[in-house]
Amino acid sequence: MTETNVGTIVGVSGNLVKVKFDHPVMQNEVGYASTGDADLKAEVIRVRGNIADLQVFEDTTDLRVGGQVSFTGELLSVELGPGLLGSIYDGLQNPLPDLAAECGYFLQRGKYLPGLNRSREWTFKPVAKAGETITSGGTLGTVPEGIFDHRIMVPFRWTEPHTVVSIAAAGSYTVDQVVATLKDPRGQEKQVTMVQTWPVKMPIKAYAERLRPADPLVTQVRIIDTFFPVARGGTYCIPGPFGAGKTVLQQITSRNADVDIVIVAACGERAGEVVETLREFPELTDPRTGKSLMERTLIICNTSSMPVAAREASVYTAVTMAEYYRQMGLHVLLLADSTSRWAQALREVSGRLEEIPGEEAFPAYLESVIASFYERGGVVKLKDGSTGSVTIGGTVSPAGGNFEEPVTQSTLKVVGAFHGLSRERSDARRYPAIHPLESWSKYEGVADTEGVAYARNILRDGNEVSQMMKVVGEEGTSIDDFLMYLKGEYVDAVYLQQDAFDPVDAAAPADRQKYFFARIQKILKTRMNFSEKDAARSFFQRLTQMTKDWNRIPMDAPEFKAKESEIEQAVTEVTDYA
Ligand code: ADP
Ligand code: MG
Repeated sequence: MTETNVGTIVGVSGNLVKVKFDHPVMQNEVGYASTGDADLKAEVIRVRGNIADLQVFEDTTDLRVGGQVSFTGELLSVELGPGLLGSIYDGLQNPLPDLAAECGYFLQRGKYLPGLNRSREWTFKPVAKAGETITSGGTLGTVPEGIFDHRIMVPFRWTEPHTVVSIAAAGSYTVDQVVATLKDPRGQEKQVTMVQTWPVKMPIKAYAERLRPADPLVTQVRIIDTFFPVARGGTYCIPGPFGAGKTVLQQITSRNADVDIVIVAACGERAGEVVETLREFPELTDPRTGKSLMERTLIICNTSSMPVAAREASVYTAVTMAEYYRQMGLHVLLLADSTSRWAQALREVSGRLEEIPGEEAFPAYLESVIASFYERGGVVKLKDGSTGSVTIGGTVSPAGGNFEEPVTQSTLKVVGAFHGLSRERSDARRYPAIHPLESWSKYEGVADTEGVAYARNILRDGNEVSQMMKVVGEEGTSIDDFLMYLKGEYVDAVYLQQDAFDPVDAAAPADRQKYFFARIQKILKTRMNFSEKDAARSFFQRLTQMTKDWNRIPMDAPEFKAKESEIEQAVTEVTDYA
């Protein structure tokens, strides 16, 4: 019999408890702190001598010095298995709708529910055969989950070669039923169910090799895919002031990005906002299937009214689930909104631990914590030769929209693309409000790089003219400069801006973007014959309207070519042939 490892509380400070122990405890081990009535889940975050500091994932009112903490010997982990998709969890994998039924949206103290449905039956199809040698991540069988074959895999911690002793026949099983028996190299037989647990702070590495992210992840947002692309398995960051459109942009991306699965980690924004997400998401339809987007979505959420420690857990829970689906050869997009709330949680805990603070009182290790989170993104070649990816996009909400602060800066050091949202653009309702001159990407996009450089020059030059005009007025501006300004405004209006509410314009597939971008470039390169600024302005007004209309016509509709000819005709009329 194993004796339980129990420690004694010697101090309570906010969500932190100091515990004196006699038997060894591990970093990140889970313990339950007793109030007498309830056992509150907590995680060891520091061990010094025979004192452990634990962050409690709950309100710590009535935890007392002298109270007991029982250590579990287990690291903070999640349960992985069929049934995750479509779920809404808090950061500790408590299903929220179930809790909602019992105690409102938010957790009742000390109440924890199983993350996976224990009674639901899944249709298992065996894949592995008796006698076969197999190792961590290898496929034993599959069950259909939504539109995917969910692989039931050899537990990721069994890295040695195992022999398949027996495998369950095709049929219906619950997640806790044994579906395979394996034998390890020492001849020990082990049973496998559809569930395995994995510590959230440890990356899952049951793959053959990591590859370089190279393929564009098409989001169908033009300014992203053409100008500041994201790669499958890459990472990107969306900093922006409050109300600039971070959450809306993430919702648009969830729906339209070319990935199999979307995981949203909504950590700690306003309580109302997360409740909105919970309400709105299930109503979104998946353009691919016409069914609910939730069938291939998983939401982890924590509001600012939940204890800070739970926010920190939620990003790790989310990324671990993303890695799990990547092991099935699927492409996963993880959206974390907002990572600033998570960083604030780190700051609070660090302050309580009385660590030496870094910039703006964030812990000195903020940068390495952020880096190791984004490093969990990537493309991997699995042991069976297929590939899977986890792409990570995180929003940052810096106070006052100041990108010089530590969270934005630490994130920019590690991500592959930066989509900076601008207050000026969102105030002018230029959506998505990604700044076309300040943003950048290291990835390859859907359009030709020369064309992109050309268009960016026009945007930059047009913007310079616009700044200059504020000083010298229109009269003091040459007609050539004025045309540059109009061209810059034109690309902005018809290409960078995109109407999220128009069924066609909202989502621009790669081929459509390439086609449009080539035509827009041709127009930009046209030498135009204007002697009057007013004439130039009214021409561009008309051209902008026509092009916006064109953006709303499907490529296979008969009006599409007609509108294109109309635009070409209009441009020809003002072309300077000299
Ligand atoms: P943030 O998350 O940055 O605080 P939100 O994403 O909640 O900001 O956006 C705030 C508001 O701005 C939205 O409620 C919506 O009215 C408007 N908005 C943001 N993005 C768009 C968009 N692409 N199209 C139209 N309206 C938008
Ligand atoms: Mg938001």
